Amino acid sequence: MGVKVVKFGGSSLADADQIRKAAAIIKSDADRRYVVPSAPGKRSSSDVKITDMLYACYEKASLGEDFTEDFGRIKARYNEIIASLGVGISLDEEFDRIQANLASAGREYAASRGEYLNGIVIAAYLGFTFIDAADVIVFSDEGMMLRHETVAKLRERLKGVTHAVIPGFYGKSVSGVVRTFSRGGSDVTGSLVARAVHAAVYENWTDVSGILVADPRVVKDPVVIPVITYKELRELSYMGFSVLHEDAIFPVRTAGIPINIRNTNAPEDAGTMIIPDSDAVDEPVRTITGIAGKKGFVAINMEKGMMNSEIGFVRDVLNVFAELGINVEHMPSGIDTLSIIADSESLKGKEEQLLSALRKAVEPDHLEIEPDIAMLAVVGRGMRKTRGTAARIFAALAHGRINVKMIDQGSSELNVIVGVNEHDLHQAIRYIYDVFVLSTL
Ligand code: ASP
Repeated sequence: MGVKVVKFGGSSLADADQIRKAAAIIKSDADRRYVVPSAPGKRSSSDVKITDMLYACYEKASLGEDFTEDFGRIKARYNEIIASLGVGISLDEEFDRIQANLASAGREYAASRGEYLNGIVIAAYLGFTFIDAADVIVFSDEGMMLRHETVAKLRERLKGVTHAVIPGFYGKSVSGVVRTFSRGGSDVTGSLVARAVHAAVYENWTDVSGILVADPRVVKDPVVIPVITYKELRELSYMGFSVLHEDAIFPVRTAGIPINIRNTNAPEDAGTMIIPDSDAVDEPVRTITGIAGKKGFVAINMEKGMMNSEIGFVRDVLNVFAELGINVEHMPSGIDTLSIIADSESLKGKEEQLLSALRKAVEPDHLEIEPDIAMLAVVGRGMRKTRGTAARIFAALAHGRINVKMIDQGSSELNVIVGVNEHDLHQAIRYIYDVFVLSTL
């Protein structure tokens, strides 16, 4: 097929057994040549991730407190893994160096050591070359990853290296300080490596068999999305789907590289394929790809006679929002009515100011703020070709006696956004799931 970059998340590498599973996956396909590991994650729900243990050590170290015992627990976890895997290496020198540097080298340095150490162990176990991410992932001194420099460095370093392990999550700033991405950032490293080697696919191995059509806390046992486009994923992520680190999308998306979300504990499952929009020539299995919902919005409802013939009305309204720094999410309108949907966080504390500024700017007949609005996004590239999708959505909601506050269909016909009361959100998602997914199973 072509080279594959494989990233394994923390739960996929939480102990020796999990690392064995990951290694078997890597070795079962000769194209899986570049491996990006996270730090060992939780072995059970009550366990603590190595990254969190390192942050805790750093807190103590920076206060001048003794962290020997806490660090001892970290060492014990790695030593257990090394012993169980039977790799003939010792991390003792590394442990001593990290312990000595912990307070002075900074919080991000401390956190990054989880991936660093895991990378050394996994490279030894696989017999792959270990490449320190500090040598290839470049950050600015302000902590922004520099993509061009990084991809260039990665390309240069990986030239002629057929099999390598590059730890995730961290890199080094231009002036030599170890920096990390935000939490979950190993996803970004994987994406950058995939970009650098022109991977045929970026496999992201985790503990679920792909992206689910709806949130499993809302819908019981939702099915997996087999194929999703980058655009659809963006719509769903914006509405609260958390699948990958946000910054992991860009490097591969722009290069047209697909991402395959896979389950380390069920490698036979095909997972979810995230594909470039231009490759979406398939007939999707279902009209809709996913349903997401998000609470925390307000509607600012305005009414004014002859509003539609007043030139500049909308502009004046939007100016008020811009001046107060309130983000406008949607703007459903009627002939004499206009609603602005904004996120309640950005409105907080500015309610009175907003109302009086709007009164002054456009002199509405009626003006009110309606709180507790939730937005629901029904996303699917299949909608373009199918008639009656909106009708089915609203029939499902009407059947459930759910009051629809607003409707917005994106011009790309990729999504329908529905505003409902917050307390109706979960029920609304369940009704739509039943109509579009459950009925097709
Ligand atoms: N280990 C880091 C974290 O826990 C980064 C990652 O796993 O991607 O956030």
